[in-house]
Amino acid sequence: MYGNTKEEVFVTSLIRDYYRAQKGITTDRIAEREFGAGTFERKIAYRHLHFRNDEEFSRFLIDKAPAYVSYSVAYYRRPDARPMPNKGWIGAELVFDLDATDMHLKCQDVHGRSWICENCLSSVRSETVKLIEEFLIPDFGFLEKELEINFSGNRGYHVHVKKESLLQLSGSARKQISDYISGNGLNPEKLFPTMGKRGTKLIGPRPEDKGWGGKIARNLITSIERGEESLESIGIDRATARNLYKKRALISMGIKNGNWDMVYIKNKAEFWKKILVSQAIAQSDRIDKNVTKDPTHLIRMPGTIHGETGLASKKISSLSELSEFDPMSEAIAFTSGELDIFPNKSIEFQMAGMTFSITESKKITLPVYAGVYLALKGLASIYIT
Ligand SMILES: [Zn+2]
Repeated sequence: MYGNTKEEVFVTSLIRDYYRAQKGITTDRIAEREFGAGTFERKIAYRHLHFRNDEEFSRFLIDKAPAYVSYSVAYYRRPDARPMPNKGWIGAELVFDLDATDMHLKCQDVHGRSWICENCLSSVRSETVKLIEEFLIPDFGFLEKELEINFSGNRGYHVHVKKESLLQLSGSARKQISDYISGNGLNPEKLFPTMGKRGTKLIGPRPEDKGWGGKIARNLITSIERGEESLESIGIDRATARNLYKKRALISMGIKNGNWDMVYIKNKAEFWKKILVSQAIAQSDRIDKNVTKDPTHLIRMPGTIHGETGLASKKISSLSELSEFDPMSEAIAFTSGELDIFPNKSIEFQMAGMTFSITESKKITLPVYAGVYLALKGLASIYIT
């Protein structure tokens, strides 16, 4: 795991220094988890690793200094046994994996999927807050203290639900939870019983209704009261947003009484369906990555380095900390020193509260964390003397 190129060897030595300096990178139930480790080329190059205690794990981190470290959301009697059925599955945390690349953001059409801009980071952070505040707490009754929120080290967040009574949930029960949150299989005709029936009033959910119905009613009222921009952000076109906002008092009153027909909307069945879908959580739609449904999945271990950024994945202590979390400052791992890089692209980015403007093919001296970030993103090479 020591790296193939001069650059990889250099970053590996930074990772090793980081692990030497960090004490206490650990997790609960460490002896019951399977671990994986990766190279710069493969995030999980080795798996079925097992550590009996924190000391063993710490020694491994310093010795191997892997580019990636992941751990199982499942607990096992024999985490190193293989194949998987021999491990003796005890149970698994319920985990939600939110990644900016799954959100199909407009900025990604401009900067591509591997680069992360401020909008990517703030969008995925809001989505994570929404998952917790609008689904996990009100609809499933989880308590904030039963949730562990981790920044992934790159462009997303993982929310672990650590609740004894959930550990045994089957894969299909996990899928149902995941589907509920993603709005998969949501039936608009159920929420709007007169939808699509000509000449009838559109009857819909009221704000106090449970589950999806109430959520949609409340969100629409909030968006209408916030203004046109807020309506556009949930998928409403500008002209309709203006019209809705103008008649906001009437519409809010109507929705509170279950009457969704207070304003003329063209193709209203299609329109309300679209609004409904926009309220869902944009979870990973790549099946192999959807940890919610896979109780044997390995996921980034909090406290460890992410080999595509040089940032540390990080445990976030509360929902209020999450709402202000800035990974480009707070997850910086390589805090000291400078290095020279040779950029292959012109780009501007912020780290540690500073803006760095990089010009293609122009050698520049940067703080180590910023230079390594660009190099690991494939946008620069590091000068190694
Ligand atoms: Zn972006």
